[in-house]
Amino acid sequence: MSQKGSGSTLTAMSQKGSGSTLTATGTVYLVGAGPGAPDLLTLRAARLLAEAGIVFHDALVHPETVALAVNAEKIAVGKRCGKHSTAQQFINKRLVDAARRHRVVVRLKGGDPMLFGRAQEEIAALEAAGIACEVVPGITAALAAAAELKTSLTQRGFARSVTFATPRVGSDELASAWADGLAVSDAGAIYMGVGEARAIAATLLCAGKLAGLPVAVVENASLPDVRIRYTTLHELPLLADAAIRGPALILLGPQFHARAARARPDCDDRCRSAPREATG
Ligand code: SAH
Repeated sequence: MSQKGSGSTLTAMSQKGSGSTLTATGTVYLVGAGPGAPDLLTLRAARLLAEAGIVFHDALVHPETVALAVNAEKIAVGKRCGKHSTAQQFINKRLVDAARRHRVVVRLKGGDPMLFGRAQEEIAALEAAGIACEVVPGITAALAAAAELKTSLTQRGFARSVTFATPRVGSDELASAWADGLAVSDAGAIYMGVGEARAIAATLLCAGKLAGLPVAVVENASLPDVRIRYTTLHELPLLADAAIRGPALILLGPQFHARAARARPDCDDRCRSAPREATG
């Protein structure tokens, strides 16, 4: 195959009493749609959408991106906090069934499929069913948020490690030590965390992070209605009361101090001491 993402698979299947026959099954592509803006899609993703016979997409994916699948049946299987979501096992089964009917099946996920995207469960189900699958990376929300802030997630002298974490635990999961990585990293990106701002602040303060550690909250990164708020770890709980309706990411680390201080002169004194001491 000259390029990835361009083929159907011929699978040898043995059938009772008739020897083995060749059955064509399609390939399922787990495709990253990027953080929101439709033009932050990869060229490979756009090509696969144009070829797709069926697309299963998350609720957060921009309608213009879904519309690139001109010939496809489009099925929303989106998960948005508090709204209807399709059970993961049902999605897995639909992907397997779709690959038996279509040459190109696209499972379109917000950001990158391999970060808080439940891609592994889908890959496992497809592999168990003998269905070919490929993953097409996308731009994850943390990178889009850093771009909005014009602040690098890593910075010489300030931040040499970044942890991607979420406090969110599914109903079928064991509690996780989600804060451990953040406690020892210089910087952090917290997904699905805004609704748990109080618990995040309490846990990280307990873990030794400084009250004045600069925090940036970016809502709707990469979209026209992007909103940026700067605060400190100590004041992060106030966000729980702020009206944040879009997807939002919490970034924390000493490197956000400079812009936080410009945006919020009132927090400058408290932020000033944070940078080097806050690196866990
Ligand atoms: N796989 C996705 C993350 C899915 S979890 C990725 O790689 O980005 C969903 C969470 O991602 C949201 O609750 C929010 O924390 C974050 N998120 C997604 N899109 C975002 C955006 N445009 N701006 C800010 N945060 C976003």
